[in-house]
Amino acid sequence: MTIAARLSEIKSSLPSHVTLVAVSKTKPAAAIKEALHAGHLHFGENKVQELNLKAAELSKEIQWHLIGHLQRNKVKQALVHQPLIHSIDSFRLLQEVEKQAQAVGMQAQVLLQVYIAQEETKYGLDEIELKQLLESLSQFKNIQINGLMGMASFTSNELQVAAEFRHLRKVFEETRSSLPTELQNHFQTLSMGMSGDYQIAIQEGSTMVRIGSAIFGSR
Ligand SMILES: *Cc1c(COP(=O)(O)O)cnc(C)c1O
Repeated sequence: MTIAARLSEIKSSLPSHVTLVAVSKTKPAAAIKEALHAGHLHFGENKVQELNLKAAELSKEIQWHLIGHLQRNKVKQALVHQPLIHSIDSFRLLQEVEKQAQAVGMQAQVLLQVYIAQEETKYGLDEIELKQLLESLSQFKNIQINGLMGMASFTSNELQVAAEFRHLRKVFEETRSSLPTELQNHFQTLSMGMSGDYQIAIQEGSTMVRIGSAIFGSR
């Protein structure tokens, strides 16, 4: 199957409220063009440099998503093509995003990454850190918090994956209702689900799935 065919098959299986981010990391710009020609505009990359190189070459209409761990010294570069940053995993990182967004006079769009897996290797805020961060949101004038992102454990145990996504959905709902009304309106995105687990994620309330290998082939 071609990239366009796999993309359209997945797209047609998604409920209309779910946004598909086609994760193009490690794949050449030509692969992205195939999806672009099929009318797809949301693409995800996990490295700032790779995102910026591809963005410079490809259509300005693309909405980019930065999904990988972001280091503070790369924030300035990360903002150049105005991606939605899915991977805010510390207060200090958010402070740096604020500083760099203010410097160029933009509103940075971000998701807070919450740690839900039973694994040591995944990045993300724990719930105490999330709570602390939410208490200090009023100082971030140049950031729009659009929601949460999370990754489930890498396991074949679907019940465990479902439970982890369900938990994130609950955190998402609680977080949204704890926000002041003017911030609630922007807080609409729950980014969860990858090639191996997106169907479970959608059942558990995902509004944005990040799918790479099922579209572009294995890496
Ligand atoms: C690579 C990656 C994906 C996509 O993974 P696939 O299994 O190829 O669909 C999704 N989210 C993040 C954070 C990733 O790094």
